[in-house]
Amino acid sequence: MPEAAAAPDWLREGFKHLWLPYTQMQTAPTPLPVVRAEGAKLFLADGTVLVDGIASWWTQAHGYNHPHIRAAVAAQLEKLPHVMLGGLANEPAMVLATRLAKLAPGDLDHVFFCESGSVSVEVAMKMAIQYWINRGIRGRTRFVSFRHGYHGDTMACMSVCDPDEGMHGHFKGYLPEQIVVPLPRDAAGEAAFAALLAQRGGEIAGIIVEPLVQGAGGMKFHEPASLSFLRRVSEAQGHLLILDEIMTGFGRLGTMFASEQAGIVPDIMTLSKALSGGTLPLSAAIARRHVFGAFLSDRPDTALMHGPTYMGNPLACAAANASLDLFEREPRLQQVAAIEAHLRERLAPCRALKGVVDVRVKGAIGVVELDRAGEGVWLRPHFLERGVWVRPFGNIVYLAPPFVVSQDELAQLTGAIVDVLQIWSRERA
Ligand code: PLP
Repeated sequence: MPEAAAAPDWLREGFKHLWLPYTQMQTAPTPLPVVRAEGAKLFLADGTVLVDGIASWWTQAHGYNHPHIRAAVAAQLEKLPHVMLGGLANEPAMVLATRLAKLAPGDLDHVFFCESGSVSVEVAMKMAIQYWINRGIRGRTRFVSFRHGYHGDTMACMSVCDPDEGMHGHFKGYLPEQIVVPLPRDAAGEAAFAALLAQRGGEIAGIIVEPLVQGAGGMKFHEPASLSFLRRVSEAQGHLLILDEIMTGFGRLGTMFASEQAGIVPDIMTLSKALSGGTLPLSAAIARRHVFGAFLSDRPDTALMHGPTYMGNPLACAAANASLDLFEREPRLQQVAAIEAHLRERLAPCRALKGVVDVRVKGAIGVVELDRAGEGVWLRPHFLERGVWVRPFGNIVYLAPPFVVSQDELAQLTGAIVDVLQIWSRERA
C-alpha cells in the first residue's frame, strides 16, 4: 500500500497547498497518487493497481481513457479547444444539443450547457422561478424537495438538499428556506403530499427530485410509482417537476435515463457526470418546449440571465458526443444488467453480518448500509490492501463501477466488500 514516504515530490509539495473536498485537512491521509487510468483500473505512482469501485464519483460509464473519447478530444484540441458561446457557435456543442434533444424523453428539447452538476441545478431552479415571473405570476419562489435528497454544494443547491443528511448543516438560516418533505411512497404519503401542494401551491416554483436513487444523501431507492405520482400530481396542480438525473442519467440504473422506468417526462432535467463519458467537466439543464416558450418575447428582460464562461466548451462537448457514440455502438445497458445481477448475488452475504442493516442493488449501484456512520477511516486501508478503491460515506459502503468493469474486477470488488465487512462485523459491530 502506498505510504506518504513513498509519495512523489509533486504530491508531497502539492499536498501542502491543495484543499481537498469534504476533508478535515488536519487529519487527512495523503491522497493516493494516480498516474494513469484505463478501463476500471487506477495505476498509482509506486506501481500499485486498484480496481475503481465508484467510477470517480459515477462519471466513468465507458471506463477511464476510452480510445474513442480520447481521439475525439484530441482531434477537437487541434482545431478549437474553446470559444465563448455568447454570440459564437461551435460544432460539437450544436451537435450535442441536437443529440441530447433527440435522446431526452418527450419534448425536452432545449439544452442549456454549464460546467458542473451543481450549476446545472442552479440554472434549472432559475428557469423555474423565472418561468412564473415571465408568465406574470408573482410569489412562486420556493422549491419542494425531499429528505435524503442531494443536488450539489452551491448555495441554491444546498437549500434543496436534505438539511440534516446533506452535509450542509452549518448553513441553515443562511440558505433560502425550501419545503423539504419525505418522498411519497404509499397512499398516505401521496395524500399528504397532494395536500401540501394544494395548500402552498402559490409559493411553489418547482419540485425537484433525484429519480429512483437518491445518491449522496444516503443511497436511498424508491420505486417508479413514486415518480409517476409526482408527475401526475404536479401536472394536475400545475407545478414544474425537475428531475436531477446527474447521477442516474446515462445508463447507471439500466435505462439511459431513470425517468424512462416511470414513463414520465419532467419539465426540466439536469445532467452531468457521465455526460462527457467522465472525461471533462460538463453539465446541462434541459427544458421542455413550454418552459422554453415562457422565455420568448419581444422584451430582453424575459431572457434567461445566466451564462457560465466555459459553457458549451468544444472539448467537453466533443467528449460527450463521443460518449453518446459509445452508448449507441456498445452494449452498455446490457453490461449494467450483468453488473446488477452480479451485485445482487455477491453482496447478499453481507445481509447476515452483525452491524449491517440493509443490502440493496439498483442497476449498477450496490449498497451495504451499516448501523453506524464514520467507519470509513477504519475500512479504507482494508479495501486498499485488497486492491480496490471504495470510498464509504456516512453509514454507506457502496459500489458504482464503470460499466466496462470485467467479471474478474467485479468479483474483486464484491469479494473485498464481503471480506472486509466480515472482519469489520467481527471486530467492531
Ligand atoms: N446532483 C446530483 C444528483 C449529484 O449526485 C451531484 C453530485 O454528486 C450533483 C447534483 C452536483 O454535481 P457537481 O458535483 O458536479 O456539482
